[in-house]
Amino acid sequence: MKIYKRYFYQSDCYKAGRIIKPIGVQVHSTGANNPYLKRYVQPDDGRIGRNQNGNHHNKYGGNVCASAYIGKQADGNVAVYEALPWDYQCWLSGSGHNGNANRLGYIGFEVCEDGLTDRTYFENAVMGKAVLLTAYLCQEFGISVDNVRDHSELHGMGLASNHADITHWLRKYSLTMDDFRAAVRYALEDGITVEYIDCDVVKGLYDAITTNPGTYLNLREGPGTNYRSIGHIPQGAIVSVLEDSLPEWYRVSYQGETGFAMAQYLERVDDPPFQEPQETEPQESDNVPISKELLKELSAKALNLYQSLSKLLGE
Ligand SMILES: [Zn+2]
Repeated sequence: MKIYKRYFYQSDCYKAGRIIKPIGVQVHSTGANNPYLKRYVQPDDGRIGRNQNGNHHNKYGGNVCASAYIGKQADGNVAVYEALPWDYQCWLSGSGHNGNANRLGYIGFEVCEDGLTDRTYFENAVMGKAVLLTAYLCQEFGISVDNVRDHSELHGMGLASNHADITHWLRKYSLTMDDFRAAVRYALEDGITVEYIDCDVVKGLYDAITTNPGTYLNLREGPGTNYRSIGHIPQGAIVSVLEDSLPEWYRVSYQGETGFAMAQYLERVDDPPFQEPQETEPQESDNVPISKELLKELSAKALNLYQSLSKLLGE
């Protein structure tokens, strides 16, 4: 299964960056008739299309943010988009009288609803991609399938606000969350392999480092201060320069968002910035002390090898 990685760097939820220890998976659907990912997921990666209404979830002041979204790319292909690192707390469940599923460690995703009448889309998005994604999360984080719950079940457990998803959608096809969990168990038997596609990697003309005096540089919709700011680039960040034909404004890409930044604060870097080599933790197997028996065996082998080599070399 492919997972497109498109982190919501601009969302308050991403910025809060609260780390959870995953204990469950919460399954949601959006409750609005719009199966297209671009309604919720932005910026456009060339596959989902641009949201012209600014009502997506990757923004300042947004108070809803799922860990992932399942819906249609512009060409109708049903795809999974990861919006938060899996161990970041999502903002999805709301609270019930016993607590809040987000905070407890339920990784949550949204399936974009359509009019709930298209069986092919249901099978593809819910019983296909949603089941596979859930199985993958259970596999990766050792989550028990019993802890896979939809919004309505979590409400029943006192861990979420009062919503009917995704049970109301399953019911259209005479299915329940027990059927969903059974499908997840079935998928787990085979094991899930995932190929991640990083949508943030944009190949530009060259990289540049921001040298602005303030803490951040505005990323604007067009080449001028009269254009809306669509993001902040911190001082010292590396951006990819896509166009540098205008003298004062370059078109750049930063963390997946494309816009214009003031050229005077962009300094070209031709080589990737030097990085301290990372010290790696020794693998556990390296720490296992060698037994005397093994050492003897190894020296015997080394001796043998040495003797045969010596013969060959005529010594
Ligand atoms: Zn929900």
